[in-house]
Amino acid sequence: MQKRKFSPELIAPCGMNCGICKAYLAYSRGIPKERGKVIHCPGCLPRSKNCFIKRGCKKLRKNEIKFCFECEDMPCENLDRLDRRYRKRYGMSMVENLKELQGKGMEKFLKNQEERYECPECGDVISVHDGKCYACGHVEPS
Ligand SMILES: [Zn+2]
Repeated sequence: MQKRKFSPELIAPCGMNCGICKAYLAYSRGIPKERGKVIHCPGCLPRSKNCFIKRGCKKLRKNEIKFCFECEDMPCENLDRLDRRYRKRYGMSMVENLKELQGKGMEKFLKNQEERYECPECGDVISVHDGKCYACGHVEPS
């Protein structure tokens, strides 16, 4: 079986792929922590701390739903705010991710994410936050 860069537990309820987050990449690619600069995070779900999306949502807190697309109110105000910020700053949309997840399923979604964020130099992962590959140091031109 082909080894996957992203696993399902890296996909947060809001649709964020933690596998492209710079805090996850620094953590998983062995970049040393640096005060105020390099943050380490194993991913929203593995870390199991409540983010503001989860804090603001009874259905997520009670595990009635796993992803926001299961909710009839998607996008709620919190998700919409997060989504707008990510679309503007990082060219990524949680809501689009969620719709793709819902429509195509986890496997296909993970595969598309791998292709979309693949480092052209080494084949690892480009971070959505800073366009950087934490494996080889390649930086995407912005
Ligand atoms: Zn690379």
